[in-house]
Amino acid sequence: MQYYSTNNPNHKVSLSEAVIKGLAPDNGLYFPERIPVLPKELIEKFSKMNFREIGYAVIDALFSEDLSETQIRELVDHTLTFDAPVVKVDEDVYSLELFHGPTLAFKDFGARFCSKLMSMLHGKNDKTVRVLVATSGDTGSAVANGFLRVDGVEVIILFPKGKVSLLQEKQFTTLGQNITALEVDGVFDDCQTLVKQAFLDPELNLKLLLTSANSINIARWIPQCLYYFYAFSRLPKNGKKVVFAVPSGNFGNLAAGILAQSMGLQIDRFVAATNVNKVVPDYLHGAAFQAEPSIQTVSNSMDVGNPSNFPRLLWLYGNDENLFREMVKGYFYNDEETIDAIQKVQKKGYTLDPHGAVGYLGLGDFMNEHPGYVGVFLETAHPGKFRDVVEGALGEELELPARLAKFLKGEKKVIPMGKGFGEFKGFLENLD
Ligand SMILES: *Cc1c(COP(=O)(O)O)cnc(C)c1O
Repeated sequence: MQYYSTNNPNHKVSLSEAVIKGLAPDNGLYFPERIPVLPKELIEKFSKMNFREIGYAVIDALFSEDLSETQIRELVDHTLTFDAPVVKVDEDVYSLELFHGPTLAFKDFGARFCSKLMSMLHGKNDKTVRVLVATSGDTGSAVANGFLRVDGVEVIILFPKGKVSLLQEKQFTTLGQNITALEVDGVFDDCQTLVKQAFLDPELNLKLLLTSANSINIARWIPQCLYYFYAFSRLPKNGKKVVFAVPSGNFGNLAAGILAQSMGLQIDRFVAATNVNKVVPDYLHGAAFQAEPSIQTVSNSMDVGNPSNFPRLLWLYGNDENLFREMVKGYFYNDEETIDAIQKVQKKGYTLDPHGAVGYLGLGDFMNEHPGYVGVFLETAHPGKFRDVVEGALGEELELPARLAKFLKGEKKVIPMGKGFGEFKGFLENLD
């Protein structure tokens, strides 16, 4: 299968080129030329299949022209080493827990798939691949841990100074080896802009093989559709319609849900829930799409003012804005509302993290306005990852999973970086 650029559907490349390049040379996002629709009978069988078996079927539909069956199995087995349970929180309200991976956020799914696929597609004698990632927190840790010690790949992580949680920071600044962290004096969008500038710089691209492991890369984005299929197959529906609420920042996760829907999964509606970085909810309510500077919030992994995956959302609905606005409902919440949700849901016996809390709120508002649904919100990170915020909200200490506590012991090593492109370019030029 080929992949085209959302800026120019005539620019088509192979899977390998789309994955290794990350971003199209015209700054567009790669998009599959054809979205396979799974037979209804197959999707019905998913309820009797395990997560990996569902993974083989879905990935086979997307990648069978480009990868062997053995490669597909290897890829899925490497990715799905942990579960994504659907947990009941309230009547007809379920949490899809995506934080059971090594770095305790949903980004482990995409990062593990991406690192494995890149190493499959990258020949032994090829140039070193330099993976550039901008992170608002969780991408950095998932990508660093997914790519740690992968041969032929070096990872350079750009993160906004003082704007990611201590635990997040520890997960990607303490590893060393093939992982380098750049502490950028700016916000997330500055990091993302630096990375995009590097991809579009002709001199750098002659010298270095640069790629991305942000959700702009199809190898990060596409595998995220797997847990929608899995969750749907496990969800008690009682004949009701299904809505998924996705706490969103760069909108890769929502785009993956819509991909699952396009592949035939009977998701009736989506909720796009954000913090006050609300350009997409504003758009969904009728405004033009207008990027804004990002604002810092307690759900910091969603502090994105210029969401990269917006063009993909539109392409998935055939660039039909009315259809997009009909299928996806936008809601946004401030920090006070987020904290309040964490406190209220704790009383029901469930601990939310600040991002899941935003999803929970969006789902609740949607379900109040639209009766007759069973709803799932994506719990995108373990509450312990945002310990300060959650402990502050609850007034009690959280127990940290051992694999999270372990990171706290490492020593932080970073290279400070300004937000001007010249300095970053100089750093990259001196790599070889
Ligand atoms: C990255 C992240 C999000 C936002 O996901 P997008 O795909 O960028 O919309 C939400 N919650 C957590 C915990 C994250 O790490």
